[in-house]
Amino acid sequence: MQVLVVGAGPVGLTMAAELARYGVECRIVDKAPAPTDQSRALVVWSRTLELLDRMGAGPAFRATGVPAHHTGLFDGAKRLADIRIEPDGTTYPYALMIPQNETERLLAARLRTFGLQVERAVELGALHSGADGVQAELTHPDGRRETVHADWLVGCDGAHSTVRHAIGAGFEGETLPSAWYLADLHLSGLPTRPDEMAMFFHVGGVLALFPITQGRYRVIASMPAGTPPDDPTLEDIQAVLDARGPGGVRAADPIWLSHFRINERKVEDYRAGRVFLAGDAAHVHSPAGGQGMNTGMQDAFNLAWKLALVCRGLAAPEPLLGSYSAERSPVGRMVLAQTGRLTAMATLQNTALQALRNHAASLLLGLAPVQAAMAKNLSEITIGYKDSPLSAGHSGGTRAPVQQDAPFGAGDTPRFALCAHDPDGAAPLLARHAAVLEPALRPGEGITLVRPDGYVAMGALRGEWDRVGRHLDGLLGAPA
Ligand SMILES: Cc1cc2nc3c(=O)[nH]c(=O)nc-3n(C[C@H](O)[C@H](O)[C@H](O)COP(=O)(O)OP(=O)(O)OC[C@H]3O[C@@H](n4cnc5c(N)ncnc54)[C@H](O)[C@@H]3O)c2cc1C
Repeated sequence: MQVLVVGAGPVGLTMAAELARYGVECRIVDKAPAPTDQSRALVVWSRTLELLDRMGAGPAFRATGVPAHHTGLFDGAKRLADIRIEPDGTTYPYALMIPQNETERLLAARLRTFGLQVERAVELGALHSGADGVQAELTHPDGRRETVHADWLVGCDGAHSTVRHAIGAGFEGETLPSAWYLADLHLSGLPTRPDEMAMFFHVGGVLALFPITQGRYRVIASMPAGTPPDDPTLEDIQAVLDARGPGGVRAADPIWLSHFRINERKVEDYRAGRVFLAGDAAHVHSPAGGQGMNTGMQDAFNLAWKLALVCRGLAAPEPLLGSYSAERSPVGRMVLAQTGRLTAMATLQNTALQALRNHAASLLLGLAPVQAAMAKNLSEITIGYKDSPLSAGHSGGTRAPVQQDAPFGAGDTPRFALCAHDPDGAAPLLARHAAVLEPALRPGEGITLVRPDGYVAMGALRGEWDRVGRHLDGLLGAPA
């Protein structure tokens, strides 16, 4: 077998679906006997949706989720800011609200269309990674032990990752002292718009409300440090709504009542030889901004095409596979810093600082350019890989404009795209590599080499085919 994917959460499912779509021989196992029925991560952001389009999953997500276009900031009933979450330049100018169990259901359905199923109640125990491959010990539901040999292994096995422990990777960081209540239930009497996420600042802590479906909401509320680590009751949630909300909101029909603490941790290197880490196995942080699952799924999108090119003998392992951690570890670091800042702002204890925050929020967040920058940032469309070993030229590492009909990287082979007005000179390159010719990205632009995940590998001047060719040769190396 070429790749063993451990863990069938949203990240493992994305990983396996991308590998299977590209014709890689792989297996995906999960120790849980059944998929989760918990809503967990609710937001799928624009960049994740763009990348899902490449595997043909975009329409199913659009049909299932509920678009949210606004975030309201409130001090009790007083609106401090109405932030439009409508980033420019994407086919998905909104945040798609969809419970994680639905996200996983859609991904698993997509995976089956590529001929692969999750093997359930199969647990990874030990693993040994050598120069030629990985040996993994699996335990089946009937107690049977199986030793699997794979060329590569991807640990998408969540925050308590067995794979991470097995490779001895440190998970540096801390557990924050604050405690949080979480509830999925029905709310009535809410003055916010149905497509609005709402955050209420209060001296006692922050209250955040997220629409899931008609009348159903996710409630998250910070509690003072030292609050007992217990699940809240419906009455607890009602008390928080009464104290911090706009007044007159009634909670009913709880679906899920839970609590959590925030961990901010990350591995330094997402790879050890033939073993990779992705998603919560590599980074965990505050749910502020809903970045966790999206970042993890984008780890998978980043690694899958590189592994596929190597497994199909279309590229050498380096520098492609080395670029995975080089590209995604800085993104994880940035997400940790940003979500940490958001959490610190939301949970300020000092009343003078709280007043200052509320004043600044009502002044600054009303400005259109500030809102536009926030929307772009949250939607993850500003993420790029400028410092990557794969990036060169004037636009190397930037996200290429999205193609709606046939996105970059769609289909059953991970191909680079050579985008140019004038294709004369491209023939030798097309003969050497699995690449396709596409129209120039923008009027007047020279040659742009676009990766199968829609990021620019190189921007060059008109006619600089030799330069582009050398760069692509360098990226793909001499295939095995
Ligand atoms: C209660 C809760 C609430 C959350 N709320 C939010 C939220 O509001 N917003 C947000 O952005 N994020 C939230 N998250 C985080 C979000 O769910 C994660 O970021 C996301 O699930 C990460 O996906 P993953 O695939 O990396 O890991 P997971 O979803 O954790 O999946 C890992 C999978 O690996 C399997 N596994 C583990 N060990 C083994 C093994 N040894 N062998 C085989 N299989 C194994 C597990 O069974 C599991 O299915 C929440 C998480 C929890 C737990």
